[in-house]
Amino acid sequence: MDLNQVKKKKLRSTIMTVSLDWENLGFSYMKLPYRYLAYYRNGAWEKGELTEDATLHISESSPSLHYGQQAFEGLKAYRTKDGSIQLFRPDQNAKRLQRTADRLLMPQVPTDMFVDACKAVVKANEEYVPPYGTGATLYLRPLLIGVGDIIGVKPADEYIFTIFAMPVGNYFKGGLVPTNFLIQDEYDRAAPHGTGAAKVGGNYAASMLPGKIAHDRNFSDVIYLDPATHTKIEEVGSANFFGITANNEFVTPLSPSILPSITKYSLLYLAEHRLGMTPIEGDVFINDLDRFVEAGACGTAAVISPIGGVQHGDDFHVFYSETEVGPITRKLYDELTGIQFGDVEAPEGWIVKVD
Ligand SMILES: *Cc1c(COP(=O)(O)O)cnc(C)c1O
Repeated sequence: MDLNQVKKKKLRSTIMTVSLDWENLGFSYMKLPYRYLAYYRNGAWEKGELTEDATLHISESSPSLHYGQQAFEGLKAYRTKDGSIQLFRPDQNAKRLQRTADRLLMPQVPTDMFVDACKAVVKANEEYVPPYGTGATLYLRPLLIGVGDIIGVKPADEYIFTIFAMPVGNYFKGGLVPTNFLIQDEYDRAAPHGTGAAKVGGNYAASMLPGKIAHDRNFSDVIYLDPATHTKIEEVGSANFFGITANNEFVTPLSPSILPSITKYSLLYLAEHRLGMTPIEGDVFINDLDRFVEAGACGTAAVISPIGGVQHGDDFHVFYSETEVGPITRKLYDELTGIQFGDVEAPEGWIVKVD
């Protein structure tokens, strides 16, 4: 279907939602009516379109399958109180995908193409954008893969850029609850000059075994250390780390091998400009965790997961409390989610309306 056709079709309809158990959605794949798909061939992006076909048809020799030449993104569409729908900083996801594409020798998806495609997918699946007040959102998964008949180790000639969507639940239904994390010495998720800062599936493949070990021991996830010295916190499996000091500082690790979280940079900004805190990107040594009075993991999926305690070898360190979320973590969470759902004024350029 043509992108303009969807616009016309939807103009005539009013706000409607399908009936789903919005309060109890988890994070599960759901096949929605439409997804966006564009091909890159002969050195250029072809015109993308919305399609009802949820299956990718690609060559068995595609470099994305064999050598991991692929990248992804994750962002959400939010239903506001007045029933409208908005995206949170989609240009930042576009830019990050461009940086990832550069690292893996894939063609960049231009920012306008990326943002327009996000809007088109949301619009086409409008009925699946959860109602305001449920905390649920429409999750978008952009994906860029190298395809085609190439078996040698080299970049693909052809690429597919696709975006599909699914409604996902509020991560914390009963309010923010801290959980415990396992600091992992035995495994790294990325190498010092590897692909840690690129949002690629390969980093996740590497994290599945340590992730399973942590889950089997009842930890929510792994906290990875800097791969070179194993003395500093880098990040959580799929979220960035932050700590809050008694001096009102918001501290996050600075390292070329962590994935630059858009949630993290948004929190750094809000900590400074809305909460009057000092934002710091710097080293977070594991032998100096006492400086933090609160800590959390942040990313699009959960926004913020308060960190109760961290296990490192035989040591167990509690930040604020194992059962209660700290006051500053809560304030940051409320401020950011308030902006995302349209209840709190957003810094300029952070909100993109889907209309
Ligand atoms: C996507 C991702 C994050 C979170 O980034 P956001 O932009 O905040 O969603 C953190 N760490 C890793 C490894 C990621 O892949």
